[in-house]
Parts: sequence; structure tokens; C-alpha cells
Amino acid sequence: MNLNSTPLFERISRLAKNVLRQQDGPLTEDLVRRSGGFGLGQVPSRLVPDVTTRIVCGYCSTGCALTAHMKNGQAVNLSPDPTYPVNRGMACPKGWEALAPLEAKDRAVTPLLRNAEGEMVPTSWQAAVSEFTDRFREVADRHGPEAMAFLSTGQIPTEEMVFLGALAKFGMGMIHGDGNTRQCMATSATAYKESFGFDAPPYSYADFEESDVIVLVGSNLCIAHPIMWERICRNPHNPEIVVIDPRKTETATAATQHYAIRAKSDLLFFYAIANEILRRGGVDRSFVQCHTAGFEDFQKFIECYTPESVSADVGIAPNEIRRLAKTIMTGKRVSFWWTMGVNQGHEAVRTAQALINLALMTGNIGRPGTGANSITGQCNAMGSRIFSNTTGLFGGRNFTNPEDRSEVAEILGIAEEKIPQVDSLAYDQILEAVRAGKIKALWVVATNGAHSWIHQSEARETLQMLDVLVVQDLYANTETARMADVFLPAAGWGEKEGTFINSERRIGLVKKIRRAPGQALADFHIFRLVAEAWGCGELFSAWKSPEDVFGSMKALSRNQPCEFTGISGYRMIEEEGGIQWPLRAADVTPQEVGDSQVIRERRLFEDGEFFRKDGRAQFCFEAPTMLPEPVDQEFPLVLLTGRGSSSQWHTQTRTAKSPILRKLYRADRTVEIHPGDAVQLGVVAEDLVRVRSRRGSLEARAVLSESLREGEIFISMHHDDTNLLTHPSFDPYSRQPSYKFCAVSVELSAEAKLNPSQNKVEK
Ligand code: SF4
Repeated sequence: MNLNSTPLFERISRLAKNVLRQQDGPLTEDLVRRSGGFGLGQVPSRLVPDVTTRIVCGYCSTGCALTAHMKNGQAVNLSPDPTYPVNRGMACPKGWEALAPLEAKDRAVTPLLRNAEGEMVPTSWQAAVSEFTDRFREVADRHGPEAMAFLSTGQIPTEEMVFLGALAKFGMGMIHGDGNTRQCMATSATAYKESFGFDAPPYSYADFEESDVIVLVGSNLCIAHPIMWERICRNPHNPEIVVIDPRKTETATAATQHYAIRAKSDLLFFYAIANEILRRGGVDRSFVQCHTAGFEDFQKFIECYTPESVSADVGIAPNEIRRLAKTIMTGKRVSFWWTMGVNQGHEAVRTAQALINLALMTGNIGRPGTGANSITGQCNAMGSRIFSNTTGLFGGRNFTNPEDRSEVAEILGIAEEKIPQVDSLAYDQILEAVRAGKIKALWVVATNGAHSWIHQSEARETLQMLDVLVVQDLYANTETARMADVFLPAAGWGEKEGTFINSERRIGLVKKIRRAPGQALADFHIFRLVAEAWGCGELFSAWKSPEDVFGSMKALSRNQPCEFTGISGYRMIEEEGGIQWPLRAADVTPQEVGDSQVIRERRLFEDGEFFRKDGRAQFCFEAPTMLPEPVDQEFPLVLLTGRGSSSQWHTQTRTAKSPILRKLYRADRTVEIHPGDAVQLGVVAEDLVRVRSRRGSLEARAVLSESLREGEIFISMHHDDTNLLTHPSFDPYSRQPSYKFCAVSVELSAEAKLNPSQNKVEK
């Protein structure tokens, strides 16, 4: 049907023009007032003068606040906010350079449609949105709503996640949708739910400064979360800093104890530590008895995991295992922290729970400086975990629970029948369904799966099988956007408003400090256009601004562990310096003008009450399983992947736009190889080598490094084809991909073999 002359088309056209007009004008007084650009009681002038305003960073989950320096209503510079409780005047290079990606010359400025010749050509918003909804509707009519799906992100504000989740599922009738948070945080979410009864990281960053023993597992904090590392450096208790990581990372180098265990032997290692603590009488019996369930079974289970029995598999001497057990037992405030080294494994949930078990059995939870603490990845992964409406219903609820569905229907004023009664497929299962011809239409928002998904060649092949792929992003040239049939240009961080939730559950504000270029629209407004075009705009008529959606989020959080009904609105978040959930109305103290109404740093479980029905934390455990792809003669080395530097972010869609950030890391692809392996391979430093796995190969310059164990190599995750090598195995409970282990071989590249003298890079 040609919609160009229909009233609906005209309506979308009007709406798009209105939104663009609003976005295009100078930043208004109201915006500055709401964004906290003026002190209380000050009267803003009609046009925005040069001011500063606070904005939470849009990269990692640390959630630092930056001061935006405004000129003529546009941010011209950023500096770290010295008053914010998270970063206290510090920022990493990405934060300092966060405006650069917005200014990039290759920003998408107009919607694009693929024409009959296969080229992407500029079009209007009306035409793009009509094409999107027409083609999705055609798929739904022919194959049912389960043939449509969306893949979202941990990078957009929570309000936009809520809008997308509600629109896709309650408005358009989709059943399946997931986020790129599946790649980083699904493990922790699943582990917490089972162990604590809710996805609830229990800590505050203050715990970094209050511990006397800090155990970091699979976490290169210096590089991945540098401001959190700075918080550790400010710890006045001279803490023991323990790093458990196969690599001697920057963090391991700075630690007081480093355990370079074999890759993916963590579970065995932690069971042996638990065994040793138990044997030496280090269990906090009173805590275990009053606040946990399942300890007796756990105690029996770990009997066989002695330091001696696991030592060879873990690659650590029994005495070293005992040493760590003793360190944990003698610590008074022990905190356990983990990130992707744990989360991205084939038995990741049980590994995270093995750490939770250590915290529970030693009573190291709910007190200052303690906790079983998962550090999140993306700036709003925590928002996604609670409010994306993907694999869980809003507010940490379940699609399969009729009471949950009825509650959400009532809060949002929608018919209960509009809420799916089944769980969504996870990311990998969505791609599998595409390959099986069951999902035919996919909407990708602010993520670049064609680069970041495990076993990249298969992922790209899968995206090509779709009848229709719609991509919504800041740039039309990401690996995923280049495959789209319809491309929708989106405003980025700093060009729209909303909230993020950081690793310590702190809700922080993001604001519009720049105008989006060309016709790019905030995702919020794109969702409004799509809703209109689909014919379900009425469902969302109450959401005229992100803060309206925030009001719904508050209502959705009521009586849930993540309740934040005590937050009156954006202004309160601004004035309090971000607010951690939970915050019920009763938690807010009457305000003296200028005084804080909220305790700024709060941890969970101080009363020993967990969120499971019996109020107890559950010991969860299971025997370790076989490696999905062990090394063999043909592929004798283990490939480890991870963050390359603190100046790079994920697929580098944004960080590569900054010339300053680009100077802070080596541009060409490198592979770190242990010198002992290099001798065996006949490779010297800077040789061009070919790294192969069963799925593909790539060339990289050899960097010889003793930071690895022999038999293991390392390639940064940021390179565009690292995932040609990775093995598509998944944790069975969280469905999180296991990026951290696959079998590979290394040899001199064909070019290097032919021309040994030209093999070296020019220095
Ligand atoms: Fe932004 Fe994270 Fe860097 Fe802080 S540490 S400035 S939140 S990227």
C-alpha cells in the first residue's frame, strides 16, 4: 500500500517535523532549568547564557558525572565533576573525550532506505518509518508476531528502554526481544536472582574504600573501570588486593596477590577455596544459620574439592590456594568483585555463584567493605536488566506470572492480553530462530552485533537471512547498519535526556547538551513515530517526555526490591547527586533547604534479609563441566579476549571518532604471545602472524608478553574481526556467550613466510 497520501502518513510527517523543529531550536530555558543548569531560585534569561551543567557519562557503568561547559546553548567541553559521589573529580579518557563522537563527520543525518539496486539512499522520516512498519506488519500477518524481534542495548536511557520494550511488546505485539546486555551482564543477573531472589548488586562504591581484603576476579579494573580502581587507591586501610586472572594485567601488576589460574578453571578454584575455609573453621556459622539456605548440601558437595585435587587443573600450587583461603578468612571486611572474566564463560552463572557462596559462608555481605559484587559493563546495563521488557517483565517481574502481568497492565493502563505470557528468546536463540526461518524481521537499536557477537561470520550470515533488518544508530556505517534495509538516524548521548542506572544501583541524569545533527532524532521520538505508524500511538499518549516515562518507571518499581518511589523527579536526582535504588517514600527525610534528603551511599542486605520468599540467600552450586572447545594438536593454544585500553569502548563505534583517544592505543591489530610459545612457533616480536580457529582466521602483529601463561594468547575485543575466532558456546542458565576461551593456532603469516625481511612493521 502506498501510504504517501494517507492521513496516517501526513500525521507521521507532521509529528516528525514538529520533533525536528523542537530539536533544532536553541536549548530552552525549561530544558536548562530541568537539567540543573541554574542554581535553585535563579531566574534564567530567555536565551541560554554560557553555563555549566552536570551530565552522567555515556560509556561505562561506573556512572561518572561530567561537567558540561556550555556556550550559546551547546556543550563545548567536558571536565570531571568534583562534587559527584561516584567519581569525585576524576574521569577516564573516554569521559573527557565524550563529545568527539557527537561531532564526527560521519554522523547519520537522514533516514536511509535500500533501493532496488541494493544501495542505501536518503529518504524522509515518514517514508522510512512507513517502510519499517509496513514490512514488519507484512511479516507478522504472514508468519505471526513471533516472527518479529528486536535487539536493544545498554547504552540508551532507561526511559527509552521502557518505551521500546512497551512499544515492541504491548504495541506491536512482538514476543521476542533481547539486549546486548546479554553479552555482558546476563550471568550476574541470573546468578543474583537465584541466590538473592532478585537481580540486586548489593554494594556501594564506598565499599572499595572500606574493605581490608579486595578480591577482583576476571576484572582488569585499571583498564575497564579506572575510576573504580582510583576508589581502591583511596582505601585508607592498606588493603590486601587480590587479583584472580589468567593474565598478569595492569590490575594484577598493582595487586598484592595475583593468582594466574588456568583460563576457565575458576569454578574448581573457588570450590577448593571454600573447602579450605570450611576445613580451617572459617565459616561464619551464625550468619549462615540465620540468613542462608542450602549450606549443608554445599558443605557436602565441596568435600572432594581439596587444594591438592584441583591444583593441576587450576595451575596453582595447593599452598597458594591455602594462602588465599587464609587471606579471606582473616579479613574483617572482605569484598568480592567480578566482571567479564567470570560472566563470559561456559559455566559463568555457577562461577559467579561460587563467589557469592564465599561471601555468604564467611558472612561478608551487608556490612561496610564487603559483598559479592558484580561490576556492570555498559552505562545503563542496570537499567536494561530491570526495565528493558526483554527477557523479564518491567520492574524485575516475569512474563509467565499472571499476577505480574496484571499489575503491569494496571499500572500502565493497558489491556492485560497485550502482555506476552511467555518469555522472550535470548539473543543467541533469536539468531538461531532467524537461521531456522522462524524470525524474519529484526529491529536493532544502538548495538553492533555484526561486530560484537560471538562467531562473527555466522552472525553476519544470519543477519543476511532476514526478510527485513531495521537499524537505528548514530552512524550508518557500523558493520550492522551497513546490512540494514531501513536505517533510522538517532541522537546520541548528550543530545537527549533521561536516566542511567550505574553498577552500584545509582540513578543518574543524562541531558541534552548538544543538538543532534541533521534529521537525527532522540530514540524516544523515533519510538513515538513508530508507534504512530503502527497505529498504537494512543497507548503511549501519556508519555510526552522522558520524565513522563520516569513517572511510570517509579510506579512499576513500587513494592519491588528496586522501588524508587521516593524520587520525586529529575530535579531531585540532580540535587542529590544521583540516587541509588531502593528509595521508598519513607526513606526520604524532610528537607532543610540545601540539605540532602537521602543517604548518599547505601548497600543492600544490612538487615540480613534477602529477597527470596524465605528471606534467605541460597547456596547454589554444581559440578564443573567440560570445556566446550579444549585445545588439541591442531589448535594447541587458548585465545583470551578482553578490553584493550581505557581509551577504547566495545566495537569502537564511538571511541574511534576521537583523534585524541586513537593516539592512546596501538592502531594495528596485535596478538600477545608468551615468549616461550613464540620460540616454539618461530615467531619474534612484530612478526605478522596468522591466528586461526575452527571458524576463521585473522592476521596480527606479535607482541611478546610474559603477562600470559604459556599456551594462552590474548587479542583485544575491539578489533573488528576478533570474533571471527571466538567459539559460540553459552552459559546454559544465562545464555551469555563465552568469549574468553577458544582453541586456536598461530603461525607466521603467508606474507611473512615469503618475505621475511619485509615482515616487520616500520617503526
Ligand atoms: Fe565515563 Fe566510565 Fe570513564 Fe567514568 S570511567 S568517565 S563513566 S567511561
